[in-house]
Order: sequence, then structure tokens, then C-alpha cells
Amino acid sequence: MKSLTNRSKVVSNKKMTFWERIYFPAILNGMGITFGHLFRRKTTVQYPEVKREFSDIYRGRHVLKRDDEGRERCTSCGLCAVACPAEAITMVSAERKPGEEHLYREEKYSAVYEIDMLRCIFCGDCEEACPKEAIFLTTELVKADYQRENFIYGKDVLVEPADPAKRIDVSKRQTPEVIEFKKDKRYKHNR
Ligand code: SF4
Ligand code: SF4
Repeated sequence: MKSLTNRSKVVSNKKMTFWERIYFPAILNGMGITFGHLFRRKTTVQYPEVKREFSDIYRGRHVLKRDDEGRERCTSCGLCAVACPAEAITMVSAERKPGEEHLYREEKYSAVYEIDMLRCIFCGDCEEACPKEAIFLTTELVKADYQRENFIYGKDVLVEPADPAKRIDVSKRQTPEVIEFKKDKRYKHNR
């Protein structure tokens, strides 16, 4: 504290020169910097006409994946919700009934699965915690809206389309180890 007081005394006691007092050199210097930037390559883009390319592993809104047979991969274990630091994920589990094997890969599934996009900080912890390769972040942005309730994304938004042509490719977000693991036919869900 003492040294700070001494320092401010030294600064205030320093005599300003004539040019410093009229600020003229400082103004010229500032204008020089401004004009210099006019001729540099711009870092801004004219959105929405021009869109900046995102990284392949940009963390945007989530997708709930299906397996190769179109069944929902999520088994409602809750690990993603536990891992989520923003407490943005909620789910209601249900038991798969006979005849629903083509809909859900495991005996237990999420009847309700919701992410509050206003709470989400897009950290990717849910993706890392998932033991079923069921949830991934995508390069898609969360759309702007005027109503808070429209930011609660349910299964109707999160689960990817069943049509194989419309599935969301997340291979770039998977580590080489995971890709190798998925090829291993010793595990039932890889067959
Ligand atoms: S990305 Fe992070 S904050 Fe968002 S839902 Fe997943 S764990 Fe939660
Ligand atoms: S998304 Fe993954 S971690 Fe979350 S409940 Fe489903 S299976 Fe479990």
C-alpha cells in the first residue's frame, strides 16, 4: 500500500512537457494506428452474408445418436447429467417393452431427455462421460429465440433422424481409440 502511494506521488509530480499538455503527439499517434488498420486484412466477416468456417470439432448444440440399425443409443444411465457442471441435463428413464427392440438399443432408455441450452456452457463433459457413444456436440448453433422455454431442447430436437441419409456425422469428434473399439465385433452392440 505504502509503495503504491509513493508511486502515485512520483507520477503526479512528473512535469508534463508542452506537447504532452496539448495532447497533439498522442492524437497523431492514435490516428496513425487507426489508419494503419484501414489497410490491414480484416478479421471481421459480413455475417450473415458471409459465414466463418467452424472447426470440425466446434462445440455447438448436441445430438442424441442412433446405432447402425436406427435404435436410440442412450440407455438413460444419467452419467452425462452427473458430469454436467451446469446441471443442464434432465431425463426420465423408462423400461423397453417387448416389441420395442427396434427403437431402443438397451433395456432402459430415456423417455424424456432435455438439455437447457441457456444453462449449457458447451464444455463437452456430457459427451466424454457417455459410455454408450450416445451424445455428441455438433457444429450446429443454438438458434436465437425470444422465449426462454424454447431453449429447452427435448428428444424431438436432439435425437438424430432415423433416415441413414440424414444422420449426423460425428466421426471427427471420436478419438481413434473409440473408432477402433467400435469395430471390435466381440462386443454385442458392435455386431
Ligand atoms: S456441454 Fe457441458 S454444460 Fe452443456 S450439457 Fe454437456 S456437460 Fe452440460
Ligand atoms: S446420453 Fe449417454 S451418458 Fe447420458 S444418459 Fe444417455 S447413455 Fe447415459
